[in-house]
Amino acid sequence: MDITNLIDEALEKISRASAPDILESVRIEYLGRNGQITKLLRSIGSLPSDQRSEAGQEANAAREKVEAALTEQFSRIAHQPKKSKIDTTLPGIRPLRGAFHPVRQVIQDARAVFRRLGFEFVEGREVETEFHNFTALNIPLDHPSRDAFDTFYTKGKNLLRSQTSTVQIRVMETRKPPLRIIAPGRVYRPDTVDASHSFMFHQIEGLLVDDRSTFSDLKGVINLFLRQFFGKNVKSRFRPHFFPFTEPSVEVDMSCILCGGKGCMTCKRTGWLEIMGAGMVDPAVFQSVGYPSGKYRGFAFGMGVERIAMLRHGIQDIRLFYENDLNFLRQFS
Ligand SMILES: [Zn+2]
Repeated sequence: MDITNLIDEALEKISRASAPDILESVRIEYLGRNGQITKLLRSIGSLPSDQRSEAGQEANAAREKVEAALTEQFSRIAHQPKKSKIDTTLPGIRPLRGAFHPVRQVIQDARAVFRRLGFEFVEGREVETEFHNFTALNIPLDHPSRDAFDTFYTKGKNLLRSQTSTVQIRVMETRKPPLRIIAPGRVYRPDTVDASHSFMFHQIEGLLVDDRSTFSDLKGVINLFLRQFFGKNVKSRFRPHFFPFTEPSVEVDMSCILCGGKGCMTCKRTGWLEIMGAGMVDPAVFQSVGYPSGKYRGFAFGMGVERIAMLRHGIQDIRLFYENDLNFLRQFS
């Protein structure tokens, strides 16, 4: 091969070598023991004596050029900034997004419906007095719910509230009607934990007080809530019941959202699901917060949040809500 072509070819390969090991293999190809330039130098001795000098100079010049190019390329590679280890062609890592707990979702959705009806969101304390949890709600001293088996008592005659109705009392003590409040929150009862009971669960309490509301207003508000929350085909029925703090009192059933009222396991083949307790505020409750007798009327209602979340998602075991198992919770995000 012509020596000029040999140099060009070597310089070309050197300039394209992007890593030290590639460069080393180029060096061996030309300058190694059997390299092309080494062979050329070795062959000079066999040339006729009048050609040796010129051929020797050319071959040495070639070796120097290639060696210089190798040195230069080695230092260029060595000073190159290291290539990033991030492969930008791979799909990205999806950021973990939080979501609301199914219990919180029920509270927020219910709150949104009641907000459209003009109800104000109120929160109350979880450690309460006997007065606010029982006495002011017209619950007599000998009522079984006051027993230590049914209520968690703390030091100093306080207790963990066993119902959110305490918020009604707290609000009425400090404000005058008209009132329209919705009060979601935790309540505590010393129940043995099983698939449908927990020592802690959530309720949503509602209260409306003015000077003219009637039982048909209560029915209207509850029906509107049930239809907005569960769907427009939901029917309701009101069964007479007794609560100390309302008179008259009712238990509200809605047509089973799982079977459409035909009867299934969840509704125990009745086609109806018990969904809340309600009634017109008992005059004794108004009296206990100091409202003048006969001046105000109103209604109250209360429902269990976990029960609604269980019906909504077809969940059979209340304990799943409190275990913080992300495999369970991620289904509702
Ligand atoms: Zn059913």
